Amino acid sequence: MQDCLFCKIVAGEIPSKKVYEDEQCYAFYDIDPQAPTHFLVIPKQHIQSVAAVDAGNSAVVAHCFEVIAKVAKDLGLESFRVVSNIGEQAGQSVFHLHFHVLSGRDMTWPPG
Ligand code: AMP
Ligand code: ZN
Repeated sequence: MQDCLFCKIVAGEIPSKKVYEDEQCYAFYDIDPQAPTHFLVIPKQHIQSVAAVDAGNSAVVAHCFEVIAKVAKDLGLESFRVVSNIGEQAGQSVFHLHFHVLSGRDMTWPPG
């Protein structure tokens, strides 16, 4: 999609620090890390947010979770948090579905 930051990262038009890539998903380190380990897992296809997941695209979302599990294991993460913000009030700033994976520090619950 034009003017989507994460579509441009997938296309290689904007640099990123890759963690993992396959045909369906891309994972890269967050530019403004909120934990000692903080990376994002995204589908390569443009999906606006979790709110736009449906029967036609949910397989790639499931695959994103396989990638999260694999990368977390490869990085030796024993405890981590997966977050997806939906809409501005919840803190979404990039409107291409992404899962934050955060690890390496104590985390509070409920989140702020
Ligand atoms: P959200 O606010 O939940 O939409 O998350 C968007 C995330 O993308 C934020 O944590 C940003 O720090 C991150 N981000 C923005 N631009 C880049 C970039 N060029 N490379 C890596 N991460 C980015
Ligand atoms: Zn996009």
